[in-house]
Amino acid sequence: MTYSFMSPPNAGRFALSNATLPAVAVEGYTAPTNEGLVRADLLIADGLVAAILPPGSAPPEFPKSDLRDGMVWPCFADVHTHLDKGHIWARNSNPDGTFKGALQAVGADREANWSADDVRKRMEFSLRSAYAHGTSLIRTHLDSVAPQHRISFEVFSEVREAWRDKIALQAVALFPMDDMVDEVYFADLVSVIRRAGGLIGGVTKMAPSLPSQLDILLRTADKNGLDVDLHVDETDDPGAGTLRAIAEAVLRNGFAGKVTAGHCCSLARQDDCIAKRTVELVAKAGISIISLPMCNAYLQDRYPGRTPRWRGVTLFKELAAAGVATAVASDNTRDPFYAYGDLDAVEVFREAVRILHLDHPLDLAARVVTTSPADIAARPDMGRLGVGRPADLVLFSARRWSEFLSRPQSDRVVLRRGKVTDRSLPDYRELDSVVGA
Ligand SMILES: [Zn+2]
Repeated sequence: MTYSFMSPPNAGRFALSNATLPAVAVEGYTAPTNEGLVRADLLIADGLVAAILPPGSAPPEFPKSDLRDGMVWPCFADVHTHLDKGHIWARNSNPDGTFKGALQAVGADREANWSADDVRKRMEFSLRSAYAHGTSLIRTHLDSVAPQHRISFEVFSEVREAWRDKIALQAVALFPMDDMVDEVYFADLVSVIRRAGGLIGGVTKMAPSLPSQLDILLRTADKNGLDVDLHVDETDDPGAGTLRAIAEAVLRNGFAGKVTAGHCCSLARQDDCIAKRTVELVAKAGISIISLPMCNAYLQDRYPGRTPRWRGVTLFKELAAAGVATAVASDNTRDPFYAYGDLDAVEVFREAVRILHLDHPLDLAARVVTTSPADIAARPDMGRLGVGRPADLVLFSARRWSEFLSRPQSDRVVLRRGKVTDRSLPDYRELDSVVGA
């Protein structure tokens, strides 16, 4: 009996035969590649990938689903999101689409509406979408100005527990670094982060006090065993050089934890020699960089009545070429920082390929939503396809890149532990009672 990719057998063991895999996300299997794609048969047994074999060689005792060269990816990793802000657009939109407009709208919405119940319902909605699209690892930043830090982290911990068999969740406390002077608040924030097993974050801004603020942040992180994930230089101002200051602070303090920097837009606006020096320092300091192409293209270079001239993204290729760990992610979804989005890693990948020119060649591109973000999030066991790993897989009818990147892949099939999952998306009407119709 042969099954189509639309309905792999719901059996304890079966073969996905004649699959096309992105080689960069596959462990322990080598075969000739074509634009980074390899062909193989996958054997699935008891929810795990049992073997990766040459195409057409699956043993007959495994019921076969012939994918006819359709792609199979591991489930995705999306490691820079804002689940706490998600889907507030209907209630508090961004009047002009600018960064300033977003800050004001989110601040007002947070103060008026972000009860535990409100945050939980919107978070759950976002996770159901991400799960349906095939994501298995998400890191979210949580707005952590007092008293929101206590509300949001408590909800996050409950939601993480409820979702632990479906999506691995991580949280970062996002707060203005100036607030560290309030020692009572800062000590409380650190204890909340520790209790939730989270990361310390923050927004860096150019100021004479920045180096000493970074020293305090890194020393606190070190003392408490926390990793760091910052919002950095999200501006078109070439004078914004906090990324360099972060790299210098990491080196100065000999900080041994992981440091991630998101956005880093202004790096692409600086003179080549200045940017090159920063890239070298970032590589030396071992900082990972996450680009948010959809959100950056939306917010950056936006002025009334003027067509944008700049894509808003950081020097992604130069950073990667220097050996810096790089990935892309969703960032915001249907909130004042980004009016659209659905936590669909395929959309993020497709837009990243277009905006960042990750194509020609596409050989390694699939890493930016699979292995690379999983590694950055210290989950090197996720975002890859390998023998003995869970059969958390996304099956596509697309066989080649031009097919994959030209359609939204709405007909994809998602397997979790080898079982086909329900891919229906939550209805926006469910949010009417939360954010208004
Ligand atoms: Zn962000």
